[in-house]
Amino acid sequence: MTVEELISEFRERTKGSRSQRECYATYLADSRASAGYKSLLRDIHYPIVGSRAAGSHIWDVDGNSYIDLSMGFGVQLFGHAAPFVTDAIADQLALGIQLGPQARLAGEVAELIAKATGVERLCFCNTGTEAVMTALRLARTQTNRQKIAMFTWSYHGHFDGTLARPAMRDGERQSIPAFPGVPASLAADTVMLNYCDDAAFDVLEKESADLAAVIVEPIQSVQPWLRPGEFLRKLREWTTDRDVPLIFDDVLLGFRVHLGGSQAMFGVKPDIVTFGKILGGGLPIGVVAGDARYLEAIDGGAWTPANELTPSGRRTFFAGTYNKNPISMAAARAVLRRLLDEGPELQALLNETSETFTSELNRWLQDREIPIRIEGFGSLFRFRGRQLDLFFYKLLLNGVYLWEGRSCFLSTAHTKADLAELTSAIQDAALWWSEVGGRSDASPTSCRAKALDKP
Ligand code: PMP
Repeated sequence: MTVEELISEFRERTKGSRSQRECYATYLADSRASAGYKSLLRDIHYPIVGSRAAGSHIWDVDGNSYIDLSMGFGVQLFGHAAPFVTDAIADQLALGIQLGPQARLAGEVAELIAKATGVERLCFCNTGTEAVMTALRLARTQTNRQKIAMFTWSYHGHFDGTLARPAMRDGERQSIPAFPGVPASLAADTVMLNYCDDAAFDVLEKESADLAAVIVEPIQSVQPWLRPGEFLRKLREWTTDRDVPLIFDDVLLGFRVHLGGSQAMFGVKPDIVTFGKILGGGLPIGVVAGDARYLEAIDGGAWTPANELTPSGRRTFFAGTYNKNPISMAAARAVLRRLLDEGPELQALLNETSETFTSELNRWLQDREIPIRIEGFGSLFRFRGRQLDLFFYKLLLNGVYLWEGRSCFLSTAHTKADLAELTSAIQDAALWWSEVGGRSDASPTSCRAKALDKP
């Protein structure tokens, strides 16, 4: 198959997805429709539109079936439409979507999260972005300091306060907005560091008096091959010594790599941790959790009308119309009960299955000198190589769904047969890609000799 044939077959097979973009682009501003735009692939540059999903599979509006490697951006640990989640949602829905009165299940869900992860207290919001934003506000409230140390290539959502990048200005490293529209004043309140690099400690030392927090994405989704165990332990020691709160952003990998999250995986306990994604079983949820002294800023502590306490400590503002919404709470309770019933073996087994799957594929690719590597952590992985756009389109044609951000996830719903099918589809796409040159500018040059790229 030539590149031109791939383009025309893809167009033919995904007519319905294409026509949605054609019909609605006038009205719908869609960042995903433009993600990774390349002029050669303009003709097939539109998101696949889904029609339904079950287990490890999704179907698009043209009736094509795919084995899903995106799994709801990592949300669907148990596969799509897991009956224990959809039943819990249906039962709650029958009671109405009560926003206003306290959600009946919120306390119980909080207790289950504490049981699974060992956190002291927590509060609910609706997205990972909100959870990070709130975690930073809590840290600033309790330290009365301003600056946040962050690491390049970490993703913490789309809150302006985390959309900074480092730049050299007048011979000095500064933090500037990563995107237009982000206020320079917010970027200036961040200190951007290189992850897993001990040179970060020199910068931290200089900034320590102004630091409200250090936030890490323990396993960075864009470079999941970094192994941060030792770095995290040093960071814990450094932040403890200087009384700077350490925040783990565990929105993506919490409950995926270990029942207790990254803190259990690496044996490093942060002061504050954010969760989201998997917890909501597909519904919006965010959680800010951690030591009681930080969560006290939400409600003045665990006082009740019956105990001897009164609201105390420094408090800040926190709110949200949809916080603790009863449908998300019902789904979260079902997910947490299942996770606790299964125990940490669930994640251990999925991690092992994923690692075997990727290492066998890597051996196959290496034997054929195809310059693609699959690297990751636990059940998250990425394809690593140069100019992989055509490879990804061929995978779609081969019945494997990947979203534009290209982070891949396995779920407990992926069967042995799915993995065998995935292996054949990936091998076929890799062979084709290496034969056509593996370049999205369709240059005929062989890609075999090219070195592997960095993200
Ligand atoms: N933090 C991390 C580590 C994430 O992976 C994400 C989302 N991928 C977020 C924060 C933001 O979460 P949300 O998309 O729910 O706002």
